[in-house]
Amino acid sequence: MQIFSIAIHGGAGTLVKGMMTPELEKQYKSALKKALDSGYKLLEEGGSAIDAVEEAVKQLEDSHLFNAGKGSVFTAEGTHEMDAAIMDGKTLNAGAVSLITGIKNPVSLARDVMEKSEHVFLAGDGAMQFAKEHNYELEEPTYFYDEFRHQQWLEIRDTNSFQLDHSKSVTEAARSQKDSKFGTVGAVACDKNGHVAAATSTGGMTNKKWGRVGDSPMIGAGNYANNKTCAVSCTGSGEYFIRGVVAYDVAMLMEHKDMGVQDASDEVIHKRILEINGDGGLIAVDKNGAIAMPFNTEGMYRASKSSNGQEEISIYK
Ligand code: ASP
Repeated sequence: MQIFSIAIHGGAGTLVKGMMTPELEKQYKSALKKALDSGYKLLEEGGSAIDAVEEAVKQLEDSHLFNAGKGSVFTAEGTHEMDAAIMDGKTLNAGAVSLITGIKNPVSLARDVMEKSEHVFLAGDGAMQFAKEHNYELEEPTYFYDEFRHQQWLEIRDTNSFQLDHSKSVTEAARSQKDSKFGTVGAVACDKNGHVAAATSTGGMTNKKWGRVGDSPMIGAGNYANNKTCAVSCTGSGEYFIRGVVAYDVAMLMEHKDMGVQDASDEVIHKRILEINGDGGLIAVDKNGAIAMPFNTEGMYRASKSSNGQEEISIYK
């Protein structure tokens, strides 16, 4: 019988253990559970993988705890610029947006690009124009405001540094690159028909400028889905994940080296991306519903649920 399943992440990196309080841990886990359950419920009712990943990512975007949608990090100009992508493994259709502002759920705009335009990737003003034509209402900047992200930005706004989400402080992040943290969100799912899909959404890096775009909205780098192999959503040091074409690399190891989803994901996260100094993690699901969630950082906010009864909600190793 076809197994259906879903996995989600809220970023590979997490707060360093010393900063995590029992109360915060409870908040993170309950936000993950809410998103997981909403996607899983859709699959259980016979919904498609693409609907399930969009729904789960929307829930994560709506939580201020993660660096996507509400709670996105601040750019060098003190604004929020968000990126998102979605891909359907059944059709290989994909949609992506980057450098968008004021949009409550960037993942839904990416889906509209996929379904309502001839294109795959829209950026900046053009993407905003597209949103306007499709009647998106814009949220005020206060909707995206989060005190923790604001403090992160104030620490480095007058410098040339940029910082991945959840770093304890810029000084510490500078001391050890490995302490840099990532708060992007994503979901992958396999539905009752064995179709897979992936979605990823992010606010990017604190104090980013020059229209910096990471791996998250790039098809093949931070997000990829193909029924032949798997669906993948990544989180980590975007520049390295772009160079490693990480999500596609997992799929290619499966297709050409005949590796399973767990082995292929481990090979990429614990070997190939480390060889080029990238840190982070990914979630992946294959067409049989098997899930892999490797990371090479201290932790990764993650959760998964499968019709074979397996369920996990974890933060650290
Ligand atoms: N990969 C994201 C980026 O580079 C960051 C993250 O995963 O949090 O924009």
